[in-house]
Amino acid sequence: HALKKYFPVKNQFMTRKDLWVKAVDAVDFTVKKGEVLGIVGESGCGKSTLVNTLLFLHAPTAGTVFFDGKEIFKMKGEALRTARKDVQIVFQDPFWSLNPRWLVKDIVGEPLKVHKNLSSEAYLAAVQDIVEMVGLPRDAVYKYPHEFSGGQRQRIAIARALSVGPKLVVLDEPTSAIDVLSQSQVLALLDQLKERLKLTYIIISHDLGVVNYMASKIIVMYLGKIVEYGPAAEIFHSPKHPYTKALFHAIPGLETRSVDDLAAIAGEVPSAINPPGGCRFHPRCESCMEICRRQDPLMQMVENRQVACFLYHPPINLFKEDALGRK
Ligand code: SF4
Ligand code: MG
Repeated sequence: HALKKYFPVKNQFMTRKDLWVKAVDAVDFTVKKGEVLGIVGESGCGKSTLVNTLLFLHAPTAGTVFFDGKEIFKMKGEALRTARKDVQIVFQDPFWSLNPRWLVKDIVGEPLKVHKNLSSEAYLAAVQDIVEMVGLPRDAVYKYPHEFSGGQRQRIAIARALSVGPKLVVLDEPTSAIDVLSQSQVLALLDQLKERLKLTYIIISHDLGVVNYMASKIIVMYLGKIVEYGPAAEIFHSPKHPYTKALFHAIPGLETRSVDDLAAIAGEVPSAINPPGGCRFHPRCESCMEICRRQDPLMQMVENRQVACFLYHPPINLFKEDALGRK
């Protein structure tokens, strides 16, 4: 069920139908109940687009997304409403995602109003329970977002996502806007909540330390494609794809690893509008071979994970070359 999401590229004058941003190109993965899937990659690699597709915000150009055994873009009515409730997101910067004019009780309770019919006392008690569960005092509900620190605002954003009892929570850069101490506290909270509420997470982060701490499986994306996918511990321990290797080895000290600090990977990230032919990583790859300029490697199993790289598996014989490489 490879998932593709292309956007037509617009400029002031026209929409060019021949140009597409290949933000999510033939991405294929699964998340099981109770797992934490981490998605890593540089800015512009398609992480957000992938997640918006999962959140029912964009229909994929090709391919399908299944949630709880059902295809999400074929859902209608009650099934769709339930599925939307079951999948919640915590946005990356709670300063921008929390309405500054609303009290915490309205911010956290808003999704409840949509999905449940509660008396005002029951509503307030429900909101206070959730606020307490994320480590804030019950009277926090009578305050505005600006009265809280960055870490506390992130807790409010988490409380809002949890208020409707989701099954899958997408955490988009959940700690990027807060200080280091609050970061580790928020991560520990997310860990506890996952166990307590039996949640499944998809966590998107530039911060490899965060992904290493949280994720049981990871996806490494490059220009809209998955280049490596499998158990987090194994990929962290022995990355296979040259891009993953560069990501994990380029920056010393796991705490400070941000995938956008990658001066060590030669060259700029090419544009997703016109990705390089062949393997998309080839202009930056130290191991680039002749075949890499001509063919796009497919994902193949390599020691318990999937890797898209010709170093690990031979190219498919598209050109009907004979054994000596003649066409
Ligand atoms: Fe590098 Fe070739 Fe592997 Fe692409 S397929 S990552 S260019 S070795
Ligand atoms: Mg993003």
